[in-house]
Amino acid sequence: MSQPEFIWAPSPTYSLPIVGSNARMPVRRIFCVGRNYHAHAVEMGRPVDKSTMSPFYFLKDASTLVESGATVPYPTGTSNYHYEMELVVAIGKPGFRVAEADADALIFGYAAGLDMTRRDLQLVAREQGRPWDLGKNFEKSAVCAPILPATGGAALDKGAISLQVNGETRQASDLSMLIWNVREIIADLSKFYHLEPGDLIYTGTPEGVGAVKSGDRISGHIDGVGEVALVVGEAE
Ligand code: MN
Repeated sequence: MSQPEFIWAPSPTYSLPIVGSNARMPVRRIFCVGRNYHAHAVEMGRPVDKSTMSPFYFLKDASTLVESGATVPYPTGTSNYHYEMELVVAIGKPGFRVAEADADALIFGYAAGLDMTRRDLQLVAREQGRPWDLGKNFEKSAVCAPILPATGGAALDKGAISLQVNGETRQASDLSMLIWNVREIIADLSKFYHLEPGDLIYTGTPEGVGAVKSGDRISGHIDGVGEVALVVGEAE
């Protein structure tokens, strides 16, 4: 079969390094969970009652991916650029309407990630009932460390998660504080999407989100998973 002729180069295949491998993981979609730690939901003015509410999601395009260690320009259109430290789950097998008990089998691995946010634009959108894309789905906003393959066979359900700016701790919590844990998120998300290898799930951020400025150095850590780092450069 002949190759189609394109009028310009097709989009690149976005991918991430894998710990202990020379091969890379191609990235398909980036799902993000909103308000998945109680204390963060409260600081955002939107408490969560798990007994009556479901998780909600937004997406970032794979083209927004940035590898850990990068320097990114202070983004355009904002004066309130926030970090959100998160556990990232990498899906390695297809799944649709997955039972919680079967969710572990879909997990390829984990990484430490940052859901960088133009908070001012997100809040304007939220108050006006508009989509969150300007606040969330912007260039270089999905920071991700190399994927650590999940060898234990069980979903991560505890471990310290923290973030520092210029060495000062701003976020400190534990994965056990997730409102919807990794298995519950996979089960719920797969009611709405056919999950596929290469999908990433940013599982939500703990309390303590805040603004950064040019010159700031962000570093995050998740016990048993790894580290993520980002430097905020000058505005373009
Ligand atoms: Mn987030």
